[in-house]
Amino acid sequence: MKYSYLIVGAGFTGATVAREIAEKCNEPVLVIDRRNHISGNAFDQNDKNGILIHEYGPHIFHTNSLQVWEFLSRFTEWNPYEHRVLGQVGKKLIPVPFNFTSIETLFSSKEADIIKEHLLEEHGSETKVPILNLLESKNRFVKELADYVYNNIFFNYTKKMWDLEPQELDPQLLSRVPIQIGYDDRYFHDQYQAMPKEGYTKMFQKILNHPNIEVKLDTRFEDISDPNEFKKVIYTGPIDEFFDYRHGELPYRSIRFEFLNHDTEYKQKVATMNFPGFEFQHTRMTEFKHMTFQKNPKTTLSREYPEAYNSKSNLPYYPIPTKENKKLFQKYRNDADKVEERVAFVGRLADYQYFNMDQAVARGLQFFKKELLSK
Ligand SMILES: Cc1cc2nc3c(=O)[nH]c(=O)nc-3n(C[C@H](O)[C@H](O)[C@H](O)COP(=O)(O)OP(=O)(O)OC[C@H]3O[C@@H](n4cnc5c(N)ncnc54)[C@H](O)[C@@H]3O)c2cc1C
Repeated sequence: MKYSYLIVGAGFTGATVAREIAEKCNEPVLVIDRRNHISGNAFDQNDKNGILIHEYGPHIFHTNSLQVWEFLSRFTEWNPYEHRVLGQVGKKLIPVPFNFTSIETLFSSKEADIIKEHLLEEHGSETKVPILNLLESKNRFVKELADYVYNNIFFNYTKKMWDLEPQELDPQLLSRVPIQIGYDDRYFHDQYQAMPKEGYTKMFQKILNHPNIEVKLDTRFEDISDPNEFKKVIYTGPIDEFFDYRHGELPYRSIRFEFLNHDTEYKQKVATMNFPGFEFQHTRMTEFKHMTFQKNPKTTLSREYPEAYNSKSNLPYYPIPTKENKKLFQKYRNDADKVEERVAFVGRLADYQYFNMDQAVARGLQFFKKELLSK
């Protein structure tokens, strides 16, 4: 087949754009990925005990976008699922995000009543307030609570996760960490929260199953002898790698995942446990069966150890949101503008921006509509 488009990367961004081109332009697309599987970082497969695990860390789907929800729902049925997280602070387990139950667990009932009363007075019930706002509160009780959460939980978790202190990171990151004024203990509040019934990889197989789409795995962009043969290349890999790191490497945080098998049905009360304290090296532990609803007498968990990224030894997971890194990315973006006739850079590694899965799909849909369909 002679292809009109080359898509580099079979993750959410690449697969979405491929499907849109195949269906709406009726043109042939070649999708390549250097890994031996589709689905990018959302790849899942059964482990030796038949438990569906997420190889690159737990992925929970949630969105407020009807467009994204409808697009993906063509390729999968869903299990409704609301994610819940408990954090270990000292010897106690508290709901995360921090809520009224967290306050009642950590403080005496007299102190807890006073703090809850002041929070309700200042913010009303069932609201989510960023910790940043609470830190600036003039109310002594609210400010004390905010300081407690910041010093005992947020600061430690941030330092472990990023190896940076919160003030070194983009303030937007801090502004997204909320305290829940009430007892709601759901981690996400999006309108659509669900997990693909048969897993992400099965969903990707269906997205990419179209007569106009061919997928070649174990194939790197460098293996394509003449990219100019294609009408356009849509590149969802790391933008700095495309330009041979000419301005230096874009910094990322990586994670090492350790998978633990147990001969017991369940090991944790909820899907994810957070460990902000420095007494643990890991930050999170996730038990997959809580999210997939599989019935199995055994269980598998993944433990996450954040670590420095090195392009030769591990994978780029989270772009590190600092001012300096944004400037470095801008240099690559300027280079990208010079080749935009032939190559488009789209997706979390090409945009050097953390995207949730729904945002990656939305980015793909929007890119297709604006840059390919209308031209
Ligand atoms: C640990 C972790 C947990 C996450 N949890 C959630 C979650 O709970 N909920 C949520 O909504 N989102 C989550 N995400 C985000 C989610 O993984 C991303 O939204 C999604 O992966 C973005 O898709 P993408 O296609 O842009 O990138 P990717 O999934 O990274 O796909 C890019 C693909 O391009 C390929 N590639 C790169 N360069 C080349 C090259 N030169 N040649 C060939 N192929 C190449 C790569 O192999 C990769 O498969 C999480 C991310 C991480 C890291």
